[in-house]
Amino acid sequence: MLKKLMSFMPGRGKKTAPVYTREIIPRDQHTVSRSIISEPAKKVLNRLNHAGFEAYLVGGGVRDILIGERPKDFDIATNATPEEVHDLFRNSRLIGRRFRIVHVLFGREVIEVTTFRGNAANTDDDDDDRRTSEHGLLLRDNVYGSMEEDALRRDFTVNALYYCIRDFTVIDFARGIEDLHNRQLRLIGDPETRYREDPVRMLRAIRFAAKLDFDIAPDTEAPIVELAPLLTHIPPARLFEEILKLFSAGYGEATYDRLRRYDLLAPLFPETARALDSGEPDQLIRQALQNTDRRIQQGKSVTPYFLYAAMLWPALQAEWRKRQDNGEPIQPALHQAIAKVIGRQVQATAIPKRFSGPMKEIWELQMRLPRRNGKRAFQTMDHPRFRAAYDFLLVRELAGEVEPGLGQWWTEFQEADERDREKMLSQLGSDGPRKRRRRRKPANRE
Ligand code: ATP
Ligand code: MG
Repeated sequence: MLKKLMSFMPGRGKKTAPVYTREIIPRDQHTVSRSIISEPAKKVLNRLNHAGFEAYLVGGGVRDILIGERPKDFDIATNATPEEVHDLFRNSRLIGRRFRIVHVLFGREVIEVTTFRGNAANTDDDDDDRRTSEHGLLLRDNVYGSMEEDALRRDFTVNALYYCIRDFTVIDFARGIEDLHNRQLRLIGDPETRYREDPVRMLRAIRFAAKLDFDIAPDTEAPIVELAPLLTHIPPARLFEEILKLFSAGYGEATYDRLRRYDLLAPLFPETARALDSGEPDQLIRQALQNTDRRIQQGKSVTPYFLYAAMLWPALQAEWRKRQDNGEPIQPALHQAIAKVIGRQVQATAIPKRFSGPMKEIWELQMRLPRRNGKRAFQTMDHPRFRAAYDFLLVRELAGEVEPGLGQWWTEFQEADERDREKMLSQLGSDGPRKRRRRRKPANRE
């Protein structure tokens, strides 16, 4: 039985704004138990409550528990200001530009605490705390508000559920429970307005749909293809972060399928989208994402440069081939192609130098891996990026891109002892590796 305490119209939405209700679900009618909530999250909730503030678990923490998943992290919403939160926790820091929030740090666990935000309908251009651009993009969003307002300015109904640790209830302002049962992602308010305010919500829709295996509600889905280009207005650094979230949640391939279906690949990876449109295969991307998904599900880490090396591979192939067709020698053509592809990509999404460097090396090593004669195999294996390049080679082999057996050769070479390695090298190619080696030696010394 759901107790309806109040209902109101938020006044946003161009057409018929839905009526929102505040429904309180008592402890015996939901599955959020304190035992699933992390100790740090409980500590933050309790301390805020004891200091006289309201504080609730919200977002993915509540959503994931309700569908029987383990939350990735815990977010807390409160009526305490960021400064008040910061004063209560020595182990906290104030962060954020678009909206000031507090991170409370407990070892490796970070509890994100946000102050209730104000009503999204309150878009007064003279109001310095809440500004939108000509595209409807929210540039600043620093208005504090009530709990109801906070709920209605969240993105999806299933993300606007609050758990109260004082009476163990779940509070639902946007019929999120109903959507959770129907496994639907529904934006709160008018979808087009909400996407224009923050186009990243389109990526969030895709990410949650893939991760939760939810449908996107028809009216939430409808505007995406048309509005996808708005993502080009998002700062590259934020897009870089969002891309990492998209591909490192363990559902990368499902996410990739949806990005393509909703034309969202082009604003993120313009060169890759162009290459695929002109017939470049995406086998390597798929293999890499399957590989990544498996690693994440096994609790292993994935590196952003490996992901980016895969996502940009079709673009690199197209550019490299074009240059070779124009008569550039293979090696300089590769270097030029690498520079070009990275140069164009950083205009769409940032790639921090600590990732673009290793990504380049993975690509360059792909040319060296087939050439193993003489000392080359040993030199390649000593390269700091050898391991990642070898993993990349295995993925390329699965995608049918390299001579069969090359990956296996490198697997065995790494495991072999000195004598077996020499044997493997002497068995290489019947087309006279020794002769070739002699010819190449002078060049190597230069
Ligand atoms: P997860 O942490 O599992 O990726 P989440 O739903 O917790 O999913 P966060 O990015 O941690 O996502 O954000 C926490 C909550 O903040 C969301 O559930 C949502 O209510 C709100 N939120 C985050 N980003 C936006 C956004 N761009 N627009 C509106 N609300 C947002
Ligand atoms: Mg979260």
